[in-house]
Amino acid sequence: MGLDPLGLEFESYSVPEVTEELRQQTGPSYRLAVSTASGKMKIQNPSKPSFDKVLDEARSLGDKVVLSKTDTSIVALALDLSKEGKTPVIVSDDYAVQNVAEALKLNYQSLATFGIRQKFNWVLYCPACFRKYPNGDTQDCLVCGTKLKRKPVDKEAAKQRTS
Ligand SMILES: [Zn+2]
Repeated sequence: MGLDPLGLEFESYSVPEVTEELRQQTGPSYRLAVSTASGKMKIQNPSKPSFDKVLDEARSLGDKVVLSKTDTSIVALALDLSKEGKTPVIVSDDYAVQNVAEALKLNYQSLATFGIRQKFNWVLYCPACFRKYPNGDTQDCLVCGTKLKRKPVDKEAAKQRTS
């Protein structure tokens, strides 16, 4: 849908089904090929347990949440990545995907707002002692002096901060 992974400043991931779906479209499949070749985008299959967990979650949400196999794989891959300690953001305009992501406490964004940096809720954190600096008023950790990194705020953390 016009997303160019090369324009992103972070790693992106997709699943083989998406490559398959894009094969007939010159523009998107070209961007995907370039992004994959440059290492900007990784094509990966989700693990079986995550795939099953996403299916279960979708089922428990009822009839209104129907996920295609491709969408199930995407959410399952995000689940795998979050288990690896990453903070994935699922990019999808699909209501069912967003619902299941929400239920699994995964971050998601619609394509319309994705890539607009200001829409992200970033938090600075120390990669050494994990202290968070939500106000962004320092570049180095005040406790241990390590250079801070940033990541998108996850929903739970955002809730805790505001309550
Ligand atoms: Zn620190």
